[in-house]
Amino acid sequence: MTFATLGLIDPLQRTLVTLGYHAPTPIQLQAIPAVLKGRDLMAAAQTGTGKTAGFALPLLQRLTQEGPKLQSNAVRALVLVPTRELAEQLLHSFNAYAQDLPLRSYAVYGGVAINPQMMALRKGTDVLIATPGRLLDLYRQNALKFDQLQTLVLDEADRMLDLGFADELDQVFAALPRQRQTLLFSATFSSAIRVLASELLRDPLLIDISPPNTAAKLVRQWIIPVDKKRKTELFMHLLRHHQWGQVLVFAKTRNSVDQLTDSLTAQGFKADAIHGDRPQPSRLRALTRFKAAEVQILVATDVAARGLDIDALPLVVNFDLPIVAEDYIHRIGRTGRAGASGDAVSLVSADEARQLAAIETLTQALLKREVEPGFEPEHKVPVTAPGGQLIKKPKKPKKPKSAPAKGKSRIHLGNWFEEK
Ligand code: AMP
Repeated sequence: MTFATLGLIDPLQRTLVTLGYHAPTPIQLQAIPAVLKGRDLMAAAQTGTGKTAGFALPLLQRLTQEGPKLQSNAVRALVLVPTRELAEQLLHSFNAYAQDLPLRSYAVYGGVAINPQMMALRKGTDVLIATPGRLLDLYRQNALKFDQLQTLVLDEADRMLDLGFADELDQVFAALPRQRQTLLFSATFSSAIRVLASELLRDPLLIDISPPNTAAKLVRQWIIPVDKKRKTELFMHLLRHHQWGQVLVFAKTRNSVDQLTDSLTAQGFKADAIHGDRPQPSRLRALTRFKAAEVQILVATDVAARGLDIDALPLVVNFDLPIVAEDYIHRIGRTGRAGASGDAVSLVSADEARQLAAIETLTQALLKREVEPGFEPEHKVPVTAPGGQLIKKPKKPKKPKSAPAKGKSRIHLGNWFEEK
């Protein structure tokens, strides 16, 4: 099957040749003909499956072939995304795909001045990529009109809900014409997403490229059990002794991202940080430098890293496990993209056993454990069983006044414990 047989017009086919896309990916095979016909879509696809082209190509084709002349401040296709980085990345993809088409794409998001965005929207926009909050600000200031809107795309809809955009999304939907095409993409289909879909979509084509909640198959995954206080030391040891190249590292909080970046820089590593507290220009600069391999290590929080597409990223490290198990799938999806293989390593301390069990339950796979010699943990990471359940040991009756036997102590982890 080729892009021509899917019905894409010549200028798009020529562009795809220049981009090195020789054949459609599975999601593109299903999505492109359906979107060209004007159908609604509800699609679950792993990261890196080519979903962007799956909706962008047919959408651009329809905008080229149909519709009245663009009025000032009008938008013909609206793509909602959860983060600024994803907005920039999608704009980049749309510009690449539309290089030979007479269409204008633009991205708006918060954290930067609104006035230049208002000016840019005046002449009308064929494809507007937006985060929900800034889109509403612009709409309320009359910088946007939706009368000509033909298509709405929700990309990473699950993430938008996780980030608390539900109210903003409702307000956006209320402002849009009811007669339109709607495409909903989500990596995981929670019940909240299914409710959203039932409200927004009309007779949608359901596309499920991967079983929901499975991690990218080409990614080799394992964990290294380690004591919490030795994680930074272990990470630097791994960088040096395993000669790791480019690494995307996830840490839990903005503070821990900054701390790790500072420690790495102090040790002579080229590292930069990306998280929500950093101003937008410096986040984009960090990403650009990382993509250009000027920076070896990019340390990020989940929010900032969602949706990043970095060519041939070989390795993702979870310095901390994510609080929400679904984020694990998104994190490791940053590697092993577009058919390439990749590695995902998690440094796991005993206090993260619950998160580990949740991830193993979600992915229905037990993560292999490889202790790094010299970093054997004092506090063992409790055993998890196939299927991802924590093995609970029966609680022994308490002996309130006696101290624990010599050489033994208990690590309390909620309502279960392990002895060491
Ligand atoms: P996405 O899942 O949309 O983020 O795409 C992941 C990566 O795959 C991007 O770098 C795309 O440029 C690339 N890609 C998408 N479709 C194809 C294709 N048909 N052939 C080769 N690469 C593709």
